[in-house]
Amino acid sequence: MRHSLKLCALILASLACTARPALAQQILRDAETEAFMADMSGPLVKAAGMEPKNVQVMVINDPEINAFVAGGQYVWVHSGLIAQADNVNQLQGVVAHELGHIEGGHVIRTDGIKEATSVTLLSLVLGAAAIAAGGAEAGMGIMGLGQQAAMTQYLAFSRAQESSADLAGARYLHTAGISGRGSLEFFKKLQNQEYRLAIPQDNSYGRTHPLSGERINVLREVYEVDPAWTRPVDPALEARFERIKAKLVGFVSEPAQTLIKYPESDQSLPAHYARAYAWHKSAYPQKALSEADALLATAPHDPYFLELKGQILLESGKPAEAIAPLREAVKLTNQPLISVLLSHALIATEDEANFAEAEQVLRMAVQRDRENPFAWYQLGVVYERRGDSPRAALATAERYEMIGQYPMALRSADAAMQGLKPGTVDYLRAQDIAMVSRAAIEQQRKKR
Ligand SMILES: [Zn+2]
Repeated sequence: MRHSLKLCALILASLACTARPALAQQILRDAETEAFMADMSGPLVKAAGMEPKNVQVMVINDPEINAFVAGGQYVWVHSGLIAQADNVNQLQGVVAHELGHIEGGHVIRTDGIKEATSVTLLSLVLGAAAIAAGGAEAGMGIMGLGQQAAMTQYLAFSRAQESSADLAGARYLHTAGISGRGSLEFFKKLQNQEYRLAIPQDNSYGRTHPLSGERINVLREVYEVDPAWTRPVDPALEARFERIKAKLVGFVSEPAQTLIKYPESDQSLPAHYARAYAWHKSAYPQKALSEADALLATAPHDPYFLELKGQILLESGKPAEAIAPLREAVKLTNQPLISVLLSHALIATEDEANFAEAEQVLRMAVQRDRENPFAWYQLGVVYERRGDSPRAALATAERYEMIGQYPMALRSADAAMQGLKPGTVDYLRAQDIAMVSRAAIEQQRKKR
């Protein structure tokens, strides 16, 4: 997956950083969430005649209840929508409808307008630790969709587009054998909110996807006759939904809010998950660790519990102790986002003996997922530490190109070419980045 990437602002991977640009949106990246989204939406994507590997459901950090399509085959779901959904079937209903907008080509166009959007990793909570480990610039990165996201505040799909997305969504649910019950529940929930005076969370979904009683009635008629109508939700998928919902709530909410929603008397798995983030964000590593240990007591080899434990240890200044749980999590999932966390821990030990493994882990991670500026940053650091300046320059060029800083990308690519052997794969890649960057700089000049 490669998009046009633009940079307008740098954002520290720090919770203290609230000064994000007005229209910028944070993309939340997390291995467990992405794996869940792929599995939850896969049957619907296939039913829509698209390739699951080409369509991604991603999460935006925004308390408003909304979802939209932008940037090609992407469905963006606000964290606020996930927090308000009662079950996975409701989320599937929303995603089916959004896929209907993709099929209908109802993507809001904003040609030429680009706005900053940062990438925030759930595995980077504590700014200070991230900076100490060399991640000052880590949480930033750009995908050219921020403006489109912001535009959804103002633009709405037409009623005809809504009806066609509804019917397409119903078709996907039918083909995938998934009940439309959740879709109906969720739309009714939004509709009820509109009548309430005090809306707890702004429901912009209702504005961008105008809801009407008529729409809901039509959907009910279509869904109720479908054989899948009474089909129960897969309990395993539902359990995964509850986990990622708690995790996202713990990550994005004020810790005090999380502790009200998930009080310590609640010993359920999602509650432990949410509280682990709340304590970790409040810099209570011991309490955070005991929540992670409570999770691991239920499933000692759950890769995401291991990832959480590793993250807390790493960010509380114990990188050496973080290595074992993270290594196991990588081994179990081969997830690039977790690999980057492992390499972060390996590098943070400042122990040269760990650098070769860090390099190997990172090279594999960027091969599978290029959209993570922090991975390129780390790779640059590890090459530099190992005395490989040309490859450090190449990794830096990759990072700058990815975030749209073309003059810096060009400079780094040129520096890399100076030290690399002409004709090698790395040399050709540097040449490629230099060429793309030069063209982008020229284009930006013409626009001015
Ligand atoms: Zn819609």
